[in-house]
Amino acid sequence: MTVGVLALQGDFREHSAILRQLGADPLEVRLPRQLASVNHLIIPGGESTTIGRLLALYGMLEPLRARAGRDLAVWGTCAGAILLAREILDQKQGGQPTLSVMDITVRRNAYGGQLNSFELPIDAPAFGEGPLHGVFIRAPLIEAVGQGVEVLARLPDGAIIAARQGRLLATTFHPELTADARVHRYFLEL
Ligand code: GLN
Repeated sequence: MTVGVLALQGDFREHSAILRQLGADPLEVRLPRQLASVNHLIIPGGESTTIGRLLALYGMLEPLRARAGRDLAVWGTCAGAILLAREILDQKQGGQPTLSVMDITVRRNAYGGQLNSFELPIDAPAFGEGPLHGVFIRAPLIEAVGQGVEVLARLPDGAIIAARQGRLLATTFHPELTADARVHRYFLEL
């Protein structure tokens, strides 16, 4: 199994570091030929408009769409979750290039800007016992999920922060910024 981390923009290095802790040898993916050699791909947090534009520029949108959720398991964290979503609310005017492969509706910057970022313990039994440390940075909110999408975690107020549709995983928080590798391990098993 080869795991790749989309390395166009955002915190891909942090994801790679955790994958290495788990004994994987992650490949930084920037081009279609690199994508062709992985069967797991993490789309990191960062800026979804920038990552989307770079995906289009590097000819990656189509090959990714064609494989995502099929022979390619994809996990989007934060901006990555926005790129996976079929519907984006509060989108940049004129739209933004996205993959649009997962049956979820997300609202960008749902909690406000950088100053409204927060950290919180998350109860998410799907990822194992004991709370996860949730880091939310200009996070989106998963406002709705379609049939066939399993909700994996919520905030105490009910807000959906992790969801899975087959081999597609979306989290609005950043496990790669903590020392806890449970979500990465979960993803590698998809
Ligand atoms: N607010 C960013 C966006 O809309 C996502 C922030 C993040 O990935 N931490 O793309």
